[in-house]
Amino acid sequence: MRYGIVADIHGNLEALDAVLAACEERDVSAYLSTGDIVGYGANPSECIDRIQGLSTLVTAGNHDWAAANKLSLDYFNPYAREAIYWTQERLSRDQVQYLRDLNLMEMVDDVTLVHGTLYDPENFDYLLTAYDAHLSLQLQETRLCLVGHSHVPITFQLDGSVSYSFDTEIDISSLEKVIVNPGSVGQPRDENPKAAYGIYDSETRVVTIHRVDYDIEKATSKILRAGLPEVLAERLWLGK
Ligand code: ZN
Repeated sequence: MRYGIVADIHGNLEALDAVLAACEERDVSAYLSTGDIVGYGANPSECIDRIQGLSTLVTAGNHDWAAANKLSLDYFNPYAREAIYWTQERLSRDQVQYLRDLNLMEMVDDVTLVHGTLYDPENFDYLLTAYDAHLSLQLQETRLCLVGHSHVPITFQLDGSVSYSFDTEIDISSLEKVIVNPGSVGQPRDENPKAAYGIYDSETRVVTIHRVDYDIEKATSKILRAGLPEVLAERLWLGK
């Protein structure tokens, strides 16, 4: 089975459609998502529709639960908070319920999905350091764990000790345990504005990370027209 990995979509329909088209070309037959379908971008409702229309296993991101009033906005910066209020007005009752019902963790085919970390999934901590990875790996029951949240593609691997890499092809077959962040579809933050996604082939046991161009002009003009904070448009051009 070839899975497309789509994390941190953030209501960016142009980026999501470009990624889905690229995944189709690569014979993806199901999708895995570590959450944050909504928040920041101008098409939260349409992005939920796309994800629901595909065979996708999704875990909750902090923006998903915040949009569904399931998470306090206290720790959100003012731009994120404004975008959540804006998003809440654009979701149907069914879509809010869909976001509310997303679980913090899912498992399928020797893969665990979580937005933040396995040791504190409900607090949505960032998994950034080898130490964070070490703590999370101790609780990881599958060989592969997919995370999101930081919007930066990175791999942590346990092979005796924990190390990290920015490799775009990760053969997990010989490794003890691996954590992969595929990067963000809708708001990349590694100074590369192209949409990021991953592919996991459960037969060859290889994860690959890919980037694809999308219509940033269209996505940003929608953000500006919607009256969302300008900085949310600017950062898409910068990839940060
Ligand atoms: Zn996010």
